[in-house]
Amino acid sequence: MSEIKELTKKLNQFIDERNWGPHQTPKDLAISISIEAAELLEDFQWISSEEALEKNEENIREEIADVLIYSLMLCSRLDLDVKEIIEEKMVKNARKYPVTERV
Ligand SMILES: [Mg+2]
Repeated sequence: MSEIKELTKKLNQFIDERNWGPHQTPKDLAISISIEAAELLEDFQWISSEEALEKNEENIREEIADVLIYSLMLCSRLDLDVKEIIEEKMVKNARKYPVTERV
């Protein structure tokens, strides 16, 4: 089992044990990703990246984890393969942004 699938399994177990499944709709998970991303932005607001990392490193790690957890949960609910959708998007990105020679 891949590490991503193992993590997803652990997250689903955590949710099932608390009976949170009925609240984890795709809509609410998408909203939660955005809220957690905004919480991550708060750590950087009004200060440089260096200051933010010095001052808020622990919280930055936690907010990134929150974004990733909700993203994995959304993929799970929609039965999406994380590796597959990332690889598909990278192919599209490579087509959209071809490598150009540097002069
Ligand atoms: Mg958070």
